[in-house]
Amino acid sequence: MPADPSATLLIDGTWQTAASTFDVTDPATLKVIAKVADAGPDEALTALAAADRAAEPWRRVTAEERAAALRAAVARIRAQADALAALMTSENGKPLGESKGEVLGSARMLEWAAEECRRANGRTTPDAAGGPAMVLRVPIGPTLAISPWNFPASMLVRKVGLALAAGCPVIVKPAEQTPLVGTELVRLINEAGNLPAGVLQSLTTSRPGDVAGALLNDRRLRKVSFTGSTEVGLSLLASTRDHLRRTSLEMGGHSPAIVLDDADLPAAATAVAAAKFANAGQSCIAINRLFVHRSVHDEFVSLLLEKVAALRLGHGATEGTTTGPLIDFGGLDKVERHVADAVKRGATVATGGRRWTPDDPELTGAFYEPTVLTGADDTMLISSEETFGPVLPIYVVDDDAEAIERANATDYGLAAYVFGSGLTRVWRAVDQLSFGVVAVNEPFPVRPELPFGGMKNSGLEREGGSEGIDAYLETKSVAIRL
Ligand code: NAD
Repeated sequence: MPADPSATLLIDGTWQTAASTFDVTDPATLKVIAKVADAGPDEALTALAAADRAAEPWRRVTAEERAAALRAAVARIRAQADALAALMTSENGKPLGESKGEVLGSARMLEWAAEECRRANGRTTPDAAGGPAMVLRVPIGPTLAISPWNFPASMLVRKVGLALAAGCPVIVKPAEQTPLVGTELVRLINEAGNLPAGVLQSLTTSRPGDVAGALLNDRRLRKVSFTGSTEVGLSLLASTRDHLRRTSLEMGGHSPAIVLDDADLPAAATAVAAAKFANAGQSCIAINRLFVHRSVHDEFVSLLLEKVAALRLGHGATEGTTTGPLIDFGGLDKVERHVADAVKRGATVATGGRRWTPDDPELTGAFYEPTVLTGADDTMLISSEETFGPVLPIYVVDDDAEAIERANATDYGLAAYVFGSGLTRVWRAVDQLSFGVVAVNEPFPVRPELPFGGMKNSGLEREGGSEGIDAYLETKSVAIRL
């Protein structure tokens, strides 16, 4: 790392500062913890030119060598996991244990990319009259990776790993709230993999629209991979007016979970609490709507409330904290608006339902108590909008068909959860739920081997699995006359 800590732009192999900086704050205390370079369109276009120059040589590096570079980065990330986790907690607020889990999960994603790298094969077809034919798979070219603040390591590393494995240079643009851990990961991957200049670059900026706009206007950028809100994702798609480019979008979700009456209720309560309240509910796959069969509703709710009572709010770096602050007060306002609307329309606050006021005067961030609402119905704002906070509305259902129909009644289609034990009923739900990821009795349905992504307004293309590397490869058909 260079001497000046604000030199957070990695452009064409050199760490650089910018004309101005912006502040990064600890969301638990609102204290400024770093100043980072604020890149603008000029820096972005310089990086794109370097990526364009690096594209052909990087493509010529053998898959074996690219895989070795990625494996070296995996080892470096694992060795630095504690420091990376502490950095993530300082800028995102999530508890240290969750941060470390995310760092190690990122290493597994990179490891998968290193393995898939050597299996990105094309195919040949049976001879036709003229001769053989084959399907080649070639790297797309320079790509842009835009990542969100809620999983600032794993969302970024997954994109970087798949792009580099496929043979594409990548420019990373971390979220402005959490640029530190992303920048550090870019440094580690570059150093460990000894990557040539321009192959992996990074731009911190407080002006994402200007930076992305300059890059998207330039036809040398061949792909954008975005994780974030549906609103911004759709605007990126609309920007592809004059020249087509491949676009991967991982956007919002409004995940339903269904608790069938034959579920193992204590296990389901544990899983629901984990899937809802991790990262203070700020996850695209957090459970946002919980449909419970009437006959087990009361028993399930009391088991769930026991789990919620065990959660501990606090600074993410404090031992024993399970729930950190929301990223900012804008997020808190949305949570309060959704809870007030639900209560006005007849929901009951079973626990929580208000801001948390800590004893520690240092904790001035946007804390909200883990909240469970019973008696929710489909007219409430919380039933159609993504809350992105620690609030779980519970809906009573009378049969499986009703649960599935209401679960599907959303424009989003990222993740859904089913808790039950009878294979036929669980399978029917899996089959009928219109979501890109379905979890059965499982709170964390993200694995490097599985393609991750959403249907409907939740996204386009997939990350992870062999589909993840496909998203960075073009298909070239070759017909040969002998
Ligand atoms: P956001 O869309 O505001 O920001 C996400 C990223 O986009 C950031 O890097 C930001 O700087 C950048 N950005 C903002 N405006 C931009 C513009 N005009 N042009 C280009 N880039 C721009 O999203 P957010 O509110 O910070 O993140 C939360 C959202 O992300 C939620 O909706 C959540 O569901 C979603 N998310 C989805 C997934 C998934 O895999 N589907 C994963 C995590 C988060």
